[in-house]
Formats: sequence, structure tokens, C-alpha cells
Amino acid sequence: TDPARIRNFCIIAHIDHGKSTLADRMLQVTGTVPDREMRAQYLDRMDIERERGITIKSQAVRMHWDVDGAAYALNMIDTPGHVDFSYEVSRSLAACEGAILLVDAAQGIEAQTLANLYLAMENDLEIIPVLNKIDLPAADPERVSREIADLIGGSPEDILKVSGKTGMGVEELLDRVIERIPAPVGDADAPARAMIFDSVYDSYRGVVTYVRMIDGSFSPREKVMMMSTGSDHEALEIGVSSPEPTPTKGLAVGEVGYLITGVKDVRQSKVGDTVTSKRHPATEALPGYTDPKPMVFSGLYPLDGSDYPVLREALDKLKLEDAALQYEPETSVALGFGFRCGFLGLLHLEIISERLRREFDLDLIATAPSVIYQVTTEDGSEVTVTNPSEYPDGKIKSVREPVVKTAILAPKDYVGAIMELCQSRRGSLLGMEYLGERVELRYSMPLGEIVFDFFDHLKSRTQGYASLDYEPMGEQEADLVKVDILLQGDQVDAFSAIVHRDNAYHYGTMMTERLRKLIPRQQFEVPIQAAIGARVIARETIRAIRKDVLAKCYGGDISRKRKLLEKQKEGKKRMKMVGRVEVPQEAFIAALSGD
Ligand code: GDP
Ligand code: MG
Repeated sequence: TDPARIRNFCIIAHIDHGKSTLADRMLQVTGTVPDREMRAQYLDRMDIERERGITIKSQAVRMHWDVDGAAYALNMIDTPGHVDFSYEVSRSLAACEGAILLVDAAQGIEAQTLANLYLAMENDLEIIPVLNKIDLPAADPERVSREIADLIGGSPEDILKVSGKTGMGVEELLDRVIERIPAPVGDADAPARAMIFDSVYDSYRGVVTYVRMIDGSFSPREKVMMMSTGSDHEALEIGVSSPEPTPTKGLAVGEVGYLITGVKDVRQSKVGDTVTSKRHPATEALPGYTDPKPMVFSGLYPLDGSDYPVLREALDKLKLEDAALQYEPETSVALGFGFRCGFLGLLHLEIISERLRREFDLDLIATAPSVIYQVTTEDGSEVTVTNPSEYPDGKIKSVREPVVKTAILAPKDYVGAIMELCQSRRGSLLGMEYLGERVELRYSMPLGEIVFDFFDHLKSRTQGYASLDYEPMGEQEADLVKVDILLQGDQVDAFSAIVHRDNAYHYGTMMTERLRKLIPRQQFEVPIQAAIGARVIARETIRAIRKDVLAKCYGGDISRKRKLLEKQKEGKKRMKMVGRVEVPQEAFIAALSGD
């Protein structure tokens, strides 16, 4: 295709503002998907995406649209909308020349609208603002148009009004995409350079690599090379999605399509990397490549110890599809054998654990999420800690923790409640701005405070109206300590936590109280303590058992007695010994999940 007849664009929006629905209508209006084959959220392929209505993996699809008798190829790149995947979002944006900024006409601008808009502006994209859901009775197009015009300039009257549900305004929007978004430019004679913006594992075809051709071209069967590693592969198939994969004779400047090389692991074909030709390699890779870095860590343990090999196999499989997933074996006194896993963020953690449950039928328990701490000891050695149990024992000189720049958007009535919450989480205010009836608050905050139920608190304090976005902004030194939980003097590893010194007492009393309620009485008295090093900061006691638990049942209800005995037998299977103390695994699990 002549680059002048190509338009590459994406849709950026806050979650639920209607991106997938609008994409569906575009597929229909352009005849890319016939009406009889249409189903909701056509491009969201993973079951879990469709069920939760979120897009995890981006997809690219080619559509055709005519303006004044001229045929154009439109490549629509669907981007993940969530902060955990912001690197993938930024690579998808880098594959486009323009973006549709989609805003729900009833909700207005929200945190991810802004975060994605800023990313799009950093990538120099042409922005087409669009109001969606104008069929809704609650839509307030005038107010929201003003919000948008205040934000990006231009006049409120020029903002297109559409409904992804009814299809209203969608044709005008396609016309505007062609009119306003620049055609791609590149050097057709230069050595080939294509940017990988997505890499998807397919169990039949291996890894499908989605690329945007910047310079030069690829043809089938040629040898291609990944510039970050120098590894080369044969391009077994080259094609475009429209939306089903369709082989083509190659990819040329400005085109968007896929390569299949037979590799079996997405880490051999990484998002952000540059693909070049083996025979005429480019000398310089395209800018912006970084390796995915896990930010949040958690231990995953099978409830049934005999599932451990299944868990290992499942993680091996998921890793083929997910370059950001990391894991290594770990053992815990309380939970047995499991894996320490690294994730991009909390949603990523949730998605992986849900897929393990669903696709591999595993029952799992996850330990409290932790971030990466850099600990310097008095003798000068540096330790990277992603698990409280690795925290060095000796004298600590300093601890550094990751900090994120947080943006919170909410109706202005909630400013007080949000500020109070952020301050209690060691946030410091960076700035505040009013957008009509809404306010954007920017804080720098330790990531460790956010991974620990921050979002739930934010939602409950703002009746669900606040939205949150964050990005890494380095690290800071902080007065952190490790709190251990001891049963009769023996440490229960899964409950150790790294917290700020001011919160240590709170964590200690909370955990000791929880465990006292959950751990059954023993033949002897069991102290439960929370300690920083050798210093005990909280204590509870489980009193010794009274011998007559069963005696009570004699002569009484037989079935009740049997039940009790059966329960005990069942419980025995999953008893864990901490020193002399016998604890049902359920008690540990309940204490970790906080209920
Ligand atoms: P996404 O998260 O941005 O992909 O949003 P979805 O496309 O999944 O839409 C979120 C919800 O809004 C779904 O329940 C859609 O049915 C609904 N929705 C999307 N577009 C419209 C629209 O134009 N009008 C109305 N009334 N509802 C819409
Ligand atoms: Mg969606």
C-alpha cells in the first residue's frame, strides 16, 4: 500500500469509556466483520478480558474506508488501558501517528484519560477528541466538551459526538481519522526496521509478533533479526489481521502486521524491540526499548502441596505468553512449597493468579504483595530485597524504597478525604489542578503503600468516584523496619513484613490479634508476638486447651460428635508445625487474606 493511503491510529480512553464497543462498531461499519459474525468486544480475545471487560493485550486490525472515491487502509491498534501495562501502551502509541481520545459523555475525563493523553502527546500523536455514549440520558456533552477543550485546546463545538452502542457518528469519525491523522513516513530504501508493539503466544502457531514497519520492508521466508539480542529467525509467515490473520506478500513502510517465526517464547520477541533484516541489518535500533521490570512481588502457594508440580508447569506455560512474569521456587514454614513471583503491578498479579485458578484448576494462596527494597548494611554491603525473609539480620545503615508519581482524579468534594488518605500513606503533594467540577491531585508516594489496599480505601472514601494512575519516579530513603511474627518464639515467615517504623506497631497488633482468633488452642499456652529484631512490640496469648472439648459431646448428639472428629481428621492433613505449635493451614490462609 502507498503510505499516503495508510492511517495508523489507536483509541485511548479510561477503562469502561467504551473503547472496545467503538472498535466493534468500526469493524462493522467498515465491513471488516460481517454483521452475522459480530459479537461484543470482538477484539478482546482472552476469556478473562471479555468477562471483566478489560483489554489486557493489544491487538491490531486493518480496515478499509473510502473517502471521495479514494481507498484507505486504516490500522487500528487497541491498547491496554491499565497502568500496570503502561509500557505496552506506550509502545502501541509509538506505532501510530494519531489517537482518538475517547471520553464518556456522562463521566468526563478520568485519571487514565489523562495518563494516556500525556503518553500520546509525548509520542507526538495527532489527537482527535471524541465524546462517547451520547445516547445515554445522563450524558452531559456540553460540560464534558468544555472539560476536553480546556485540556487540549480547540473549541468545544468541534468535538465529535458518537455512540459506540448505536453507531451514531462512527462514519464521520472514520472520515475525520483520514482527514486529520498524518500518513506514515519512512524510508523505503533503507535497511528494514520494524517496531514490535505486541507479542502474543498462540498454542498452535507459536509466538505471533505484531510490528509496525518504519523503514524498508519484509518479505516471507527472509531471515529477520531481533536487534536487542542479535538472534535471527526465519519469517515463516507475514500478514495482517483483518481481523482474522491473513498472509500477505510482505510488509512495507507504514504498514502494520504480524510476523510468525516459529519461536515458542515471547521473550524471544520482546515488545519494544526492533526487528531488522539479517542480510541488510540496520545499524541503529528504534528508540524506546526497555526490558519489562516487575515492580510487585508475591509468594504463590498451592493449597494442596501435591499441586506444586502443576503450579510449576502452569507458570512455565504462562511465561511463554508473558515476558514480564518472573518466578523462582520458595519455601515457607507456614505455606510449604511455592514460588516467589514478580509482577508489573497489582492487576497483573490478579490476572496471573486468576488464570492459574481458572486454566489450570489450581487453588492458591498469595502472600501480601511486596515491592523492591535496596538495603545497605553497616558493613557496606547492598542487598536487593523482594521478600521480607531476605531482609538482612545485621545492623542496617539505610533502606531505599520505590516511589511513584500518583495522579488521582475525583469530583472536587472529595479533596479533603483524598488528601487525608494520601498523607496517611506518606504521600507528599506535588500539585493540584481543577478541571471544571473535578480535581486532579498529584502525589509522590511510596509504591509499597499503594500495593497495600490503597485503591480500595481510595474508592471507599470517594464512593467509587476517584480514579488512580501512577508511574515510577525513582526511589527514596525511608525509615523502614522488618516486623516478624513469632509463635512461641518461632518465626512464621509468611507474615514478616517491611513497613514504615510508624506503622510497625499497627501491623504487629493487627497480625497478632488475627492469629490469636484463628489458631486453635493447644495443650499448652502459646504466645504470639510481633517483633522488630529482638524487640517485641506486640503480644497476644492463646490459652491452653481445656481437656473436655469432646467430653461435652458424650451422650449428646452423635452426629455432631462424628462431625467434630471428621473435621479434626481432615484438619490433620493440613496441619503445619511451627516449633511445637500445630496450626491448620486454613488459619494461615485466613490471616493472610485478612478475613
Ligand atoms: P472499554 O473498557 O473502554 O473497552 O469499554 P467497553 O467498550 O467495554 O464499554 C464499557 C461499558 O459501556 C459496556 O457496558 C458497554 O456496553 C457500555 N458502552 C460502550 N459504549 C456505549 C455507548 O455508546 N452508549 C452506551 N449507552 N453504552 C456504551
Ligand atoms: Mg475494552
